[in-house]
Amino acid sequence: MNTPAPDKGFWETTSLEDMSDEQWESLCDGCALCCLEKLQNEDTGDIAYTRVACHMLDCDSCQCSDYQNRQIKVPGCINVRPLNAEKLAWLPWSCAYRRLAEGRALANWHPLVSGDRQSTHSQGISVKRWVIAAQTDNTDPEILAQHHIIHLSDLPGQTDA
Ligand code: SF4
Ligand code: SF4
Repeated sequence: MNTPAPDKGFWETTSLEDMSDEQWESLCDGCALCCLEKLQNEDTGDIAYTRVACHMLDCDSCQCSDYQNRQIKVPGCINVRPLNAEKLAWLPWSCAYRRLAEGRALANWHPLVSGDRQSTHSQGISVKRWVIAAQTDNTDPEILAQHHIIHLSDLPGQTDA
């Protein structure tokens, strides 16, 4: 029987499919990048991120204001469990779930690695510093988003190994 090395984290010894709910939830780094409004080019399929957040996001804390009911209230909210190729394409390169699904390690700024729950924010990976606003009932998402497209590769944490 193989016994996991004691200095390894569960994310290094347990597949995504085999993780408990608690382990799965703790993998989320809290960046809230997946909560940004996105546009998809109908011809190329390319996905563009914007600086406009879902109306349910608390932009100060980067937390969903109703996490338990998020998929009822926001049909477009991605349920990343289980993951598949289509869902992976909508997640940022830095996302912990995407990293593990693609065989990459967690980043050194990830809270599980750093031991600091705030490290995603303090390292500038989360949306906290630059998201402009949460979408409101009065916002035309198409018009607002088209004026606030961002290049994800310009943001911290999107290109490191
Ligand atoms: S992008 Fe991934 S790690 Fe970041 S908040 Fe979304 S699910 Fe969590
Ligand atoms: S419903 Fe919540 S978790 Fe889903 S995209 Fe909106 S803020 Fe994010």
